[in-house]
Amino acid sequence: MSANATHATKMRYRAEYVHEPGVIKDVFDGSHYQTLLKTVVPAGESNPFFYFSDERDIALGLSTDGFGPFKKRKQTCWPIILFNYNIPPEFRFRKKYCIHVATVPGPKKPWDWDSFCWPLVQELIQLEMGVKAFDAVSLSLFLLHAYLILAFGDIPAMALIMRMKGQNGISPCRICDIKAISFNSRPHYVPLRRDKVPGAQPRRYDPSDLPIRTHDKLLKQASKVEMASTSAKREERAKKYGIKGVPVLSCISSISFPSSFPFDFMHLIWENLIPNLIEFWTATFKDLDHADKDYVIEKHVWEEVGAATAACGATIPSAFGAPVPDIATKRHLMNAEMYANWTLFIAPIVLRGRFKKPQYYKHFMQLVELLKLCLAFEISEVILNQIDEGFRLWVEKYER
Ligand SMILES: [Zn+2]
Repeated sequence: MSANATHATKMRYRAEYVHEPGVIKDVFDGSHYQTLLKTVVPAGESNPFFYFSDERDIALGLSTDGFGPFKKRKQTCWPIILFNYNIPPEFRFRKKYCIHVATVPGPKKPWDWDSFCWPLVQELIQLEMGVKAFDAVSLSLFLLHAYLILAFGDIPAMALIMRMKGQNGISPCRICDIKAISFNSRPHYVPLRRDKVPGAQPRRYDPSDLPIRTHDKLLKQASKVEMASTSAKREERAKKYGIKGVPVLSCISSISFPSSFPFDFMHLIWENLIPNLIEFWTATFKDLDHADKDYVIEKHVWEEVGAATAACGATIPSAFGAPVPDIATKRHLMNAEMYANWTLFIAPIVLRGRFKKPQYYKHFMQLVELLKLCLAFEISEVILNQIDEGFRLWVEKYER
């Protein structure tokens, strides 16, 4: 791409990007990238240089997820994809600019993802030190550097890459060291308040002061797991830390654990939070006893909500995205985009006055407001604090 004048010019986006302190509108405004700008690359010991000090240095992101290539079979493949953040945001996620580096063949989830990722890691280490390339803009040879700065995907995919236990563990979170509790032998659950659960420690977590994981601590814990003298000790430590071992991506100096592994909005919100809320409202969330609970919307009322949702399709221009089907009877046809459209534009209208107690509608609308703030193309520090505070209050209210 650097040898092609059109692409090389497009890739100048990063060098020309102006970071405005206190404003977030691109990955280059994030604290991780901003810290790298002031950090010397360890590979350049004899001839020190900073990350991204050459205008042509490239920032990369990695993503992976399992997908079923066959509709009626359960086998999955795991493509490993790189994104080139030097390309302007309006182009960078288009198919022709996504770099497909590998696919882990199925039929099952890769047992040892690191073994499949190793050839890529070797190339990324070379790119950190620099590889000879031709620059079509200045018509000269130069040392091209590319740095992997983040990776994203759903929680199981991230657990695989980070070699962590994932959402069902006792330490289920990759960002903080919050401990899960088990109640009536149900799967682990991670409430902030656990004062009513016998023996749970601590009694309560303060959402504004969670035990955040740091790079050094996380990797120290990972090596403690690896260094265990017996397999029983290893398993005990893995459980305690929620870490299975040292991930191969820790060889890449531009990656920081866990801040290079942000939560992916699509999976977190549209594929998990909203479907889970709907399952609560329709009394189908897991095998909990939902009988006579205030948050449950009666079956015939929910069917009316579904019919009203489907009817919206006739009057919403297609430019707003895929029309949402009857959410009561055809929810299996819904994808993330439909959940987003429903939540942001349709639900506020069709859910009004449908709950037994208005507090549930109000609580949902508080979520909608927060999601709208998250989806803005530009977020100021003031709004970021509002989002942070808003989600804390929303979760505390949810628990109440
Ligand atoms: Zn956490």
